Amino acid sequence: MFSSMNFQKTIEEIELIRESALLVSRTLGILAKEIKEGVTTLQLDKIAEEFIRDNDAIPGFLGLYDFPNSLCTSPNSQVVHGIPNNEPLKNGDIISIDCGVLKNEFYGDHAYTFSVGEISEKNKKLLQITKESLYKGINEFKAGNRVGDVGYAIQSHCEKHNYGVVRELVGHGIGKVMHEKPEMPNYGKRGYGKRFKEGMVVAIEPMINMKTHKIIQHADGWTITTKDNHPSAHFEHNVAIINGKPEMLSTFKFIYEALGIKSDEEKNFHNFFR
Ligand code: MG
Ligand code: MG
Repeated sequence: MFSSMNFQKTIEEIELIRESALLVSRTLGILAKEIKEGVTTLQLDKIAEEFIRDNDAIPGFLGLYDFPNSLCTSPNSQVVHGIPNNEPLKNGDIISIDCGVLKNEFYGDHAYTFSVGEISEKNKKLLQITKESLYKGINEFKAGNRVGDVGYAIQSHCEKHNYGVVRELVGHGIGKVMHEKPEMPNYGKRGYGKRFKEGMVVAIEPMINMKTHKIIQHADGWTITTKDNHPSAHFEHNVAIINGKPEMLSTFKFIYEALGIKSDEEKNFHNFFR
């Protein structure tokens, strides 16, 4: 058996995290159909909470560090940790929806940045590059590599496009606790940091700003926005190391099915495709 001291999980534990991660994936798939002009983030939050509870799970964010809702909903210049409210979404918005669940004592936690109606070319590129950086990071999450290899892959891809990589917020290990060690920064140096081992499970979650990497924390104690009010994007997957290689436990496939998008972006990382 692996020791939890070095963050390794057993196959049985990984399967339970997979179940939770996939429930988040299915929740995001349900939300994908609802995200349109005029809908409020509180309405989305209610749909998500009901779906999660109907599936014998508990919303993972609700009450975690006293967060008031089941989803973090972060439109446009909000980076992460936005609180659902009564403001209707507008055509052209981008919005990060981050969702967590707790089931069988294990957490799942992942996020997608959605488009509302028709968005600008600049925002399309921001979403595309941020998502690409997520897969470049996942590709480095393998036995023998280090935390800095993932961060470097994400950072170098995004900075090539002059985007800002948020420093203050990072990915994390996940298991019986939502935010476990190791911290997984979206920046770093090749060959530096904690070494990855078989059975580790992490959330990799680039938070990428169109311009400055600087952020502001708002007075509500939660909402984070970019310092210059330019947009920010956020994508997150839960990934395990199995047979030395990265295997995604979450998937965007339910979102893509809902939106009629064809994608093979997960093919190297997902057992759906193996
Ligand atoms: Mg998350
Ligand atoms: Mg997370």
